[in-house]
Amino acid sequence: MNTDKSNENRKLAGENPQLKKAAFIDRDGTLIEEVNFLARVEDLRLFPFTIEAVELLKKNDFLIVVITNQSGVRRGIFSENDMRAIHDEIQAQLNGQIDAFYFCPHLPDENCACRKPKTQMIERACADFAIGLENSWMIGDKKLDIETGFNAKTKTALVLTGYGMKEKEKLNEKPDLIAENLLEAAKVICFRRN
Ligand SMILES: [Zn+2]
Repeated sequence: MNTDKSNENRKLAGENPQLKKAAFIDRDGTLIEEVNFLARVEDLRLFPFTIEAVELLKKNDFLIVVITNQSGVRRGIFSENDMRAIHDEIQAQLNGQIDAFYFCPHLPDENCACRKPKTQMIERACADFAIGLENSWMIGDKKLDIETGFNAKTKTALVLTGYGMKEKEKLNEKPDLIAENLLEAAKVICFRRN
């Protein structure tokens, strides 16, 4: 039998050159400032570095996929429409550079399949956009984000904005990267040498 060795090795490593890479980015405390149960567009604040960070990742061929737990929906603190209005405004402020938002509306005790650190939101994005995980990153300010990355087998980056400083102490296992904020993480991710 004729086998293309390099192709075979790639398959063994779980790589597929057709697949895209993604930056899976947590929303609150990572992409935008942490506000307890952000309900109103007026209270939305991007970090001063958010636009540059997203642009840098896009320029380096990362899809930008927001992966966010929004239990405020099920808690009745805000409606799904309120949340969508916030996502529309984030998208507008970022000049349409976000490829997709995935959210989990459920309560922690509902034991749904989507709430981080479970991986269903990432799996959906992979199916929707033909994303390969080995060159993709999960970036967030919480232990739960890092665990999501471990569970999905992405690379992982903890940012020290939002709850990052406190959450850093809770980590059982080190992420691939700990960075001051999303822009510093993006720089390391895009410019590091393999
Ligand atoms: Zn859910």
